[in-house]
Amino acid sequence: MASDPLGTAPRNQGETVQQTENPATGGGAPSTALPEVLQGYERFRENHYRRLETLFRRLAGGQSPKVLFITCSDSRIDPCLLTQTLPGDLFVVRNAGNIVPEYREDSGECATIEYAVKVLKTPHVVVCGHSGCGAMAGLLDPGQLETLPAVRRWVALSQPALERAQAASGEKLPELVRQNVILQLERLRAYPFISSALESGALRLHGWVYDIGGGTIVEYDPQRRAFSDLASLAGAWA
Ligand code: ZN
Repeated sequence: MASDPLGTAPRNQGETVQQTENPATGGGAPSTALPEVLQGYERFRENHYRRLETLFRRLAGGQSPKVLFITCSDSRIDPCLLTQTLPGDLFVVRNAGNIVPEYREDSGECATIEYAVKVLKTPHVVVCGHSGCGAMAGLLDPGQLETLPAVRRWVALSQPALERAQAASGEKLPELVRQNVILQLERLRAYPFISSALESGALRLHGWVYDIGGGTIVEYDPQRRAFSDLASLAGAWA
């Protein structure tokens, strides 16, 4: 596969970003983010779209992703970069803490998962937590969430993972990140359509933890009840 299929490599060090009036706010507040994304769009049109035009034309007719990828909204995670996949390969659900609620008909997460598994029939589901997760840090230290009632209520869905992490030895945040991934896998297994897809062998679940600084991933091995280097579990993907 190309070394940078998505063109997500960093820009040149010397590239500057101009400050302009921010049309989104209507005021004169300087914005550095908007020119940056507009310049990125120009590069996308000039380079990457042209290179992948055949793929994009094909994808305009429909999608058939192989993986439902559930991860945190954290800006430091780029699922396509991590997995060197292209548009159309991953169907992505993101939220603070990569949390899967218990199955409910009024949940956006449940609806998206339902569509991926029942309609798109993705053969794999990955739940990917990560090092230094702010949502999990907030669950561990609720004082951080005093002025964030919606975040506090959302991350409380992972309370059972917190209880398991507190009962374990070692550093609490990394343990909570791992327990949180395991909890979401358990929740997924309880979804009626996932339970039946697992029984028929049409679906496999995978729990990952991505280490941002090291650029490495470990996967949960349910046989050993432990996380192992992702490469050593390649057989689970066959
Ligand atoms: Zn996070």
